[in-house]
Amino acid sequence: MDQIKLKSSLCEKCLQETQHKILFLHSVGSQPSDDYHAEEKYFTLECAGCGHTSFRYEMHDYEGGYTADDGEWIHDIVVKIFPNFLPEAKRFKRAAWFPDDISNIYVETTNAIKDENLVLAGAGLRMIIEAIAIDKKVPGKHLENQITNLQKKGLISKLDSSRLHAIRFLGNDAVHALKAYEKEKILLALEILQNLLTSLYGFEGMFIPTLELPINSYKEFRELVLKRIGNATNLKKDHVYTISAILGNENRRILRNTERFEKSLKKEIQAGKFKKLSIENAIHGAASSKTYYKILT
Ligand SMILES: [Zn+2]
Repeated sequence: MDQIKLKSSLCEKCLQETQHKILFLHSVGSQPSDDYHAEEKYFTLECAGCGHTSFRYEMHDYEGGYTADDGEWIHDIVVKIFPNFLPEAKRFKRAAWFPDDISNIYVETTNAIKDENLVLAGAGLRMIIEAIAIDKKVPGKHLENQITNLQKKGLISKLDSSRLHAIRFLGNDAVHALKAYEKEKILLALEILQNLLTSLYGFEGMFIPTLELPINSYKEFRELVLKRIGNATNLKKDHVYTISAILGNENRRILRNTERFEKSLKKEIQAGKFKKLSIENAIHGAASSKTYYKILT
């Protein structure tokens, strides 16, 4: 059996260079008699870590390169991976609650970087700042003033402000002078904007799942009761409580449905479908005529 050949390549799922099995390799090279010496390699690869399949193209230019520190001649290789992706954009968790206009220009900008359209990328980075200024209703005729006003409104720090001005210069060069910055600088600017987007919008949304939303269905009510029985420190096994005591300060989330939900809960207990509680009918000396439930062990 042929030994499986491995090749290091960037994996879209692992988001790092990993060893890949070479499933297929086709090579098209120049002949020794040709004037110019180059070779194209077409790979089908499978990530040895996650099994993701990708295509890799390499263009080996044997007539250009550099001498490494150890004296070895390294020829130039252009690598393209299909499907193409930008790890810096993939790693960033773009929150669903970013405003649409900002999300749209952000995606177009990262696509431009991915496709090496670096003039458009520079213009896009500038437009992300403009979109933020519009969303935050920051006054100012020009972006320069708007950035200053973002800082005055306390939305960004002084350090953020100078970084945004640097991105504005980069964007201006793209828009007015059609200048493309090196990809490293574009990626640095993208990272600055990603951090800014997270601090302006990311945390805002992160709180949503922890907010106390109203309980609208019996299913949610049932889950809440189970959660309270499991977590509330003041509720003890074998002790009896009213439904209000079981729910504690979560009562306010039920709004006007408590009676209806409690009725359904009782039915479930009586039918033996809810096994964490039993109904204690006659509680001698209890303070109210409410139904009491015993928390079962
Ligand atoms: Zn992988």
